[in-house]
Amino acid sequence: MDSFLLRNGVLFAEEVSLEEIALRYGTPCYVYSRATLEQHFRAFDEALRGQKHLVCYAMKANSNLGVLDVLCRMGAGFDVVSLGELERVLQVGAKADKIIFTGVGKREDEMRRALEVGIRCFNIESESELHKLNAIAQGMGKKAPVALRVNPDVNPQTHPYIATGLKDSKFGIPIARAMEVYRLAQKMDALEVVGIDCHIGSQLTELDAYREAAVHLKHMLQALAAEGIHLHMVNIGGGLGIRYKDEKPPSPCAHADMLHSVFGPQNDYEMIVEPGRAIVGNAGILLMRVECLKQADTLHFAVVDAGMNDLIRPALYEAWMDIVPVRKREDVAAKPWEVVGPICESTDFLGKERRLALKEGDLLAVRSAGAYAFSMSSNYNTRPRAAEIMVDKGCHFLVRERETLPQLWAGEHKLP
Ligand SMILES: *Cc1c(COP(=O)(O)O)cnc(C)c1O
Repeated sequence: MDSFLLRNGVLFAEEVSLEEIALRYGTPCYVYSRATLEQHFRAFDEALRGQKHLVCYAMKANSNLGVLDVLCRMGAGFDVVSLGELERVLQVGAKADKIIFTGVGKREDEMRRALEVGIRCFNIESESELHKLNAIAQGMGKKAPVALRVNPDVNPQTHPYIATGLKDSKFGIPIARAMEVYRLAQKMDALEVVGIDCHIGSQLTELDAYREAAVHLKHMLQALAAEGIHLHMVNIGGGLGIRYKDEKPPSPCAHADMLHSVFGPQNDYEMIVEPGRAIVGNAGILLMRVECLKQADTLHFAVVDAGMNDLIRPALYEAWMDIVPVRKREDVAAKPWEVVGPICESTDFLGKERRLALKEGDLLAVRSAGAYAFSMSSNYNTRPRAAEIMVDKGCHFLVRERETLPQLWAGEHKLP
């Protein structure tokens, strides 16, 4: 579900026309729907009702404070992957004991700060990291709660750039070595071994790989229990897909049912899920304007005012994202357009062969642009990053100002 619907031929975000937003805030800009965000978070939370659980939003998908605030008010936990994300989510008042820290390269200062604020769990991705965290926690006189991120070697059937659970992936601890690393962790004085974790990839549209991973985790839990290592936290990661075109991803409910079929409906584990894309992906659009129409040898180009610096998914993953007009026009014929940005790179495209009826100055929206969109944006070509707006029913709020040009070189210096 989402809240970007046509009303009298014009695309709206909830009760606000995107034409009005463009007029007020300029383009390109990202527009988010609070209702959609809330609905998607609630779907995960309610799917696990009756089970001890925590939905930890993977904030790298979209870390805008407005988005974090909406989710924090609903009781979300957060999965962070850097000190920056940790400090950012603390800004909206997130409770440290609902924060989980993942990542293959956590630095000493990052671990120190996370221990200082008292996060719920570190997801540990290597033996080396175990030793490091143990030493730091010892020095601070603290005990660090840890889960091992195991790499179950399952193929999630997604784009190779977003698969993370294959055996030659940099992520996690190979499952064959995990028992040994658990024994090691168990002996470390400043660690409290609380759980097991995995995250096998992103934009998964089938439950099979999840089930396979979950079964691996369950066997591991049983083997550990047999050695007297009892874990109470099971984290299955994120990765549930969304619909960009015609995908039919499983619902959070089907995902929860799968977990219950593997771990038992009445299990005593605290179940953690870390959805990012599935919460925020369809809660946002990128609003942009057609700057110029031009004809090459055989192709028609629509050059828009948003580029790969604003939205890199098509260039990076060959991702297909729907592009729709904000107002349908009948006065020109539809034809296939290459929708491209103004950046000096041939990979700077948002969509290829899109059948649209276009004139210069028209507004277009890239749908499903709430996740891995603004959060991956850059200043390439010295372009200010876009504004972000949150719509809540009939109201709209600027949740991030458009960057100004002087901000782009603030902090840089000429030579003396
Ligand atoms: C990126 C990531 C997620 C979220 O993935 P989505 O596909 O956005 O749901 C969850 N957990 C970890 C460890 C991640 O790196």
